[in-house]
Amino acid sequence: LIAKNFDELFDSPFIASDSVQEQIKNIEGVSFHFCFQGSIQIDWDKLFDDFEQFIQYQISLFRGFPHKSFYFLFQITPYSAYHGVEHHESTVILLGPSYNVFSSLYNELLGVSSHELYHVWNVKGIRPEDMVPYNFSAENYTHLGYVTEGVTTYMGDRILYESNVFTEQQYFKELSTLLSRHFHNDGRLHYSVANSSWDTWLDGYTPGIPGRKVSIYVEGALSALVCDAAIRKNTNYKSSLHDVMRVLYDPKKRVIAYNADSYKHLLEEISGVDFTSIFNSIIYGKEDFGPFIQEALQVFGWQFKELTSKKSTWNFGFKTQLKNGFQHVLSVLDNSAAHLSGLVEGDEIIAVNGVKIQQNLEQWLSYYASQKITLTIFRNHNICEIELLKPNENQFYEYKILTLSNEK
Ligand SMILES: [Zn+2]
Repeated sequence: LIAKNFDELFDSPFIASDSVQEQIKNIEGVSFHFCFQGSIQIDWDKLFDDFEQFIQYQISLFRGFPHKSFYFLFQITPYSAYHGVEHHESTVILLGPSYNVFSSLYNELLGVSSHELYHVWNVKGIRPEDMVPYNFSAENYTHLGYVTEGVTTYMGDRILYESNVFTEQQYFKELSTLLSRHFHNDGRLHYSVANSSWDTWLDGYTPGIPGRKVSIYVEGALSALVCDAAIRKNTNYKSSLHDVMRVLYDPKKRVIAYNADSYKHLLEEISGVDFTSIFNSIIYGKEDFGPFIQEALQVFGWQFKELTSKKSTWNFGFKTQLKNGFQHVLSVLDNSAAHLSGLVEGDEIIAVNGVKIQQNLEQWLSYYASQKITLTIFRNHNICEIELLKPNENQFYEYKILTLSNEK
């Protein structure tokens, strides 16, 4: 094995192991290698059925595949894990725990695999000019994360739906997760997705300062949905974002460089309409995504509904996380009851109205719902009490996607 250059060498991960489970499947003339490392009982028939379907579909979208072979390198862990990275002719996917991979995590296995395969074109083949060539000696800043990861996240799931691997209900579940992640993050009011992309080098993959920024994956995918719907609507469903990505790509070149202007220009050329308003509102701006998403979903015959959560903590506008058996406040929504009551991230809740909580905070909050509620908390090793105000309209809501004809 000889790499053509440093880039290829640096971007060709391999697994050295005597326990890899590998099978090779030829799809559209390409050898796809499925390699699993770690303890995992593989349902090969199910895997091949689903993977063949979405791989064929992706290859047909771009009218070809740039490599003779491709490796899915799955690292299966005994603990909870979810991660994937695209590489030259391969992807490394981390997923666990083992016992859930072919059951409750199976849609995640499909989702991350479809996402990483799409990177063969979008990122490895079509790349922001700021990253061509990759500069291995410095950070590579770009505002275009809404295309590199946003379009890829949108397409990863969208393709599973269009190729019939996901049912409509399974796809709705992925969309509603995106909506929750968007509306549950106050960062949407403070920082645009283009600016958040620039900051990805600084703190893009960590929670960072609460409510400061958004995610190139979440807001990127939602803005891609809005762009896709706008193209379909204005071309009477003859064209879509698939056409934009296919035209951007050139199989004769190893990598195509684009910038924000050339991407926007192509969206406009294919749709025949001006995208300035969409870009200024939800890509460079911090406007409410709600009306844009509702209008986009309508193009597909869908809509989203905002529902009051059954979780009391969410009604008050906070979320908790169990850490070493203790209930810690994970996030507090701006201007919610919890926020206005003075609850902050990191507070450890130990009692509700004097009753010690033992992983039953939800139950005690709903039990005392009609009464005055006093929380006893530890903050920086000091004990204090907080009187919890009644829930207001600023809450963590749940989001449901419905078909327009089937309004419930
Ligand atoms: Zn990605």
